[in-house]
Amino acid sequence: MGLIAIDLDGTLINNQHDISQENIKAIKTAQDDGYEVVIATGRAHFDAKKILEGAGLSLYTIGANGSTAHSPSGTTILSIEMLKDKVVDIVKWLDHAHFYYELFCDDGIYTPKDARHILYQEIEDLQHVALKPEIDFMEFHLDKQLSQSGFVFMENNQDVFQGKQKIYNILAYSFDKHKRQRGWEMFKERKDLTLVTSSPFNLELEHPDASKGNAVGYLAKVLNKDLSPSMAVGDSGNDISMFGVVSDSYVMANADDEVKSKAKYVTASNDEDGVAQAIYDFLNRVKQ
Ligand code: CA
Repeated sequence: MGLIAIDLDGTLINNQHDISQENIKAIKTAQDDGYEVVIATGRAHFDAKKILEGAGLSLYTIGANGSTAHSPSGTTILSIEMLKDKVVDIVKWLDHAHFYYELFCDDGIYTPKDARHILYQEIEDLQHVALKPEIDFMEFHLDKQLSQSGFVFMENNQDVFQGKQKIYNILAYSFDKHKRQRGWEMFKERKDLTLVTSSPFNLELEHPDASKGNAVGYLAKVLNKDLSPSMAVGDSGNDISMFGVVSDSYVMANADDEVKSKAKYVTASNDEDGVAQAIYDFLNRVKQ
């Protein structure tokens, strides 16, 4: 039996920040059928683990967009760190461009001590030009961003650069469209980095070998699981790499059109138990 890879935010997690009982039930059905159900998220491993524990789930977890993979008990299976001097250069550019950013390490999510004010200020500046629903949407995403577990507030980012921490992922975040575009333009051609996005407001940089798709392939090999049949379900740009690795790719109804065009099937939204529907559809399809 194969593997089922599920993204967290905008996919398994609904807009109330919960994993529904219907989705949990579907995961258990797939496990009973012999499938290895794996989480594949942009979140740091410890942050994802806490969310899964809250829902009573214990699963293999691909974290930081494929830079890490851990067993249900927390053993490291995959760890692809970024080169430190590359991180230093990128962070220098982000600081100069006045970006809010986070560095994902094994022991925490490191962010400059006063960086949050950049995000509050960006929303403040947009109050005059954006509509109320747009501001509400930004505030919803800001809450989600700041509710991750394991923040470490840096007095000085040199402490991390000179420390022993492995850095897996640099997440840059902005509500300013032009700032995000400048970031995207700056890094999109770099062959020595993976650049993806998992939210309307971020860009994420990793080692060029790191992607959710590569990590799914690697886990399948390590766990001796077949990739035909296998399924993946997600909602954002950072999920597209998985769609090419599995036999059956599902995209959430809440995804944007570009991501939708990359998957084989569209399932319901994250607020309508889209993951459960995708799992049942896949299990039925395989049995036919
Ligand atoms: Ca997502």
